[in-house]
Amino acid sequence: MKKKCKCVFLDRDGVINKKAPEGDYIKNWSEFKFLPNVKEDIKKLNKADFLVIIITNQRGIAKGLMTEEDLKDIHTKMIEELKKSEAKIDGIYYCPHDEKDNCNCRKPKIGMFLKAKEDFNIEMNKSWLVGDSKFDILAGQRAGCKTVLIKNKFNKNKDLLIKNKEIKADFILFSLRQTVIKIFYNNYNSIFENKGEL
Ligand SMILES: [Mg+2]
Repeated sequence: MKKKCKCVFLDRDGVINKKAPEGDYIKNWSEFKFLPNVKEDIKKLNKADFLVIIITNQRGIAKGLMTEEDLKDIHTKMIEELKKSEAKIDGIYYCPHDEKDNCNCRKPKIGMFLKAKEDFNIEMNKSWLVGDSKFDILAGQRAGCKTVLIKNKFNKNKDLLIKNKEIKADFILFSLRQTVIKIFYNNYNSIFENKGEL
């Protein structure tokens, strides 16, 4: 049987790249801007044996503002750019639907997580979800992951901290860099806990 894997699930817009203004979408490669340090952070996760999987809602497709081909083109170029920094994304799952389509994949539903879990044999309780919205956190919690809510100057959402009183992400951090440090520290602690005596 395939080895069980731990994973860091990343939301895309607002975690990997700068989010589009409210109501708009990243529709082509020229609109895609990496957030600072993200490439090195992904590389660090790769080296620490975490799968890195993107789980992203892209309802700009359902709205007819972009096509699935446009989205795939963005992802091909994103992966090429990451490769130049020796960083690797193991999988990308996207939901092209709108809320009214009532699909099983759009976060806060967990269809994309379940598919990834099956495809990669992921141990959800050893995995993390990093996102910048309430729906990301809810989905991550429902999927059984630890959750990190990203709040940074590129991702201004003044209601987010208020919302977090309802959703209670495990951590609120300011970047993927901070998240990686937190994940490593958390794992370091659990190594000692598991040994039982020190
Ligand atoms: Mg987002």
